[in-house]
Amino acid sequence: MTDSGRDDARPGADSDGAAHREVLQAALDPERFRREAHAAVELLADHLRHVTRDDTALVLPWQPPLSAVAHFALPEDGVAADARPTLAQLLAKLLATSHNLHHPRYVGHQVSAPLPMTAITQLARALLNNGLAVYEMGPPGLAMERAVIDALARRVGFGAEADGVFVSGGSVGNLTALLAARQARAGFDVWREGLRGGPPLAIVCSDQTHYCVDRAARVMGLGDDGVIVVPTDDALKLRGGALAAALDAAATRGLRVFAVVASAGSTATGAYDPLDELADVCAARGVWLHVDGAHGASALFSSAHRGKLAGIARADSVVWDAHKLLLVPSLATAVLYREGRRSYEAFAQEASYLFAGSDPSERWYDLGTRTLECTKPNLALDLYAILAVLGPGVLAAHVDHLTALAADFAARIDAAPDFRLAAHPETNIVCFRHEPAPLAADLERLDRLQDSVRQVLVESGAFYLVRTRLRGRTWLRVTLMSPHTDAADLDALLERVREVARTVAS
Ligand SMILES: *Cc1c(COP(=O)(O)O)cnc(C)c1O
Repeated sequence: MTDSGRDDARPGADSDGAAHREVLQAALDPERFRREAHAAVELLADHLRHVTRDDTALVLPWQPPLSAVAHFALPEDGVAADARPTLAQLLAKLLATSHNLHHPRYVGHQVSAPLPMTAITQLARALLNNGLAVYEMGPPGLAMERAVIDALARRVGFGAEADGVFVSGGSVGNLTALLAARQARAGFDVWREGLRGGPPLAIVCSDQTHYCVDRAARVMGLGDDGVIVVPTDDALKLRGGALAAALDAAATRGLRVFAVVASAGSTATGAYDPLDELADVCAARGVWLHVDGAHGASALFSSAHRGKLAGIARADSVVWDAHKLLLVPSLATAVLYREGRRSYEAFAQEASYLFAGSDPSERWYDLGTRTLECTKPNLALDLYAILAVLGPGVLAAHVDHLTALAADFAARIDAAPDFRLAAHPETNIVCFRHEPAPLAADLERLDRLQDSVRQVLVESGAFYLVRTRLRGRTWLRVTLMSPHTDAADLDALLERVREVARTVAS
């Protein structure tokens, strides 16, 4: 990749080296940082104002992938300094082509429109770059993470023995919790003996479980037989009866099920599995109950909605993404354990150069004993800042607003003869189909219609929404994430869907 060998052999290489050192020195200057950061904040604040207030702002300035790649080609290595973009120019180009999650008509994937304040905490975090594998590398990060883990574990209803860690996303979080579950409940030491040390192992989840759980199980070597998928009921929930039957069938086949994964709520529709019911079944059989609350655990901040998670305090582990509904940027996921000591079992190994001592829990302050990551940023910082500076009430207000808006939107869909609602929303996710009367009997054509309408809407930049498959059919899927979305935006969405459907169907 480097051509420095050739550079050194070339006449004038010394003066090139001196020039590069000069560029480096200038780039290290704190005063330059001050100037560039001030200018960047102006640009970002203007952009935020534009995408949240101007009717002309696009959600996504659509371009095909190859044209985006060409647009961001790097300058040639040897190009003259004045032919390079300034940082401000580069940021302007980034802003002009980015997907705008704060836009009121962004209703797509479950990624937060972060509180602007967290862009400032991220700036500090990047400059400090304190790691968290060992305490010495970032004392404030460890302290903040402890405080936020405590605050979240209390919301779950866990007791004093609870503990947990922040990791890079719900997918890594689910893998981490399942590793701990396996070590705790396999009945043999998988960490040392491998999978050959005992009977074949399996997990149980539902047909609505996020795909990362299946992936985690396969990464863990469980294979096809190791993931038992239980069908959900009409409300797309995993029920205790179906779970018990699946556990019986697995036992008959000689499989040892070490964990059940419940969704709270599910990714496709936001449906909450009945946790108390599932906890009863798991408790009776000694199976670890893992609750994937990546999306929906944030309802625990809301007194109006926390009842949907009744029973979560009986879970053995919980995964909770802050970068979905808690207004912080990606990635920030809490893995919480009812019995904190279980958190050491996910990675039962000992890296002696990092973690001296034999009992890893003696060094609770070296978080790397409990995470897949070695170098890990201060992932709790943004949420810590929101909780400390603004208080938890803002998170409750955010969840309440989006949930109420989703219910209102669902009611409008239900009332419209040419739209069909997939399920009554329990969170901020609404799945629906447009079924214009002339096509009403042609299910295949209706499936294609949802896809083509979505494509036109997305490429127009007017709305960003996604699609999903449910009960064998294609549905449009809206997740309300931007705090700037209101009912008028959603009325406009239904109207645009109708208009576009008329043009693509004709
Ligand atoms: C988003 C989501 C995940 C994956 O989390 P990432 O942070 O995107 O890795 C897992 N489970 C559920 C239920 C989710 O909604």
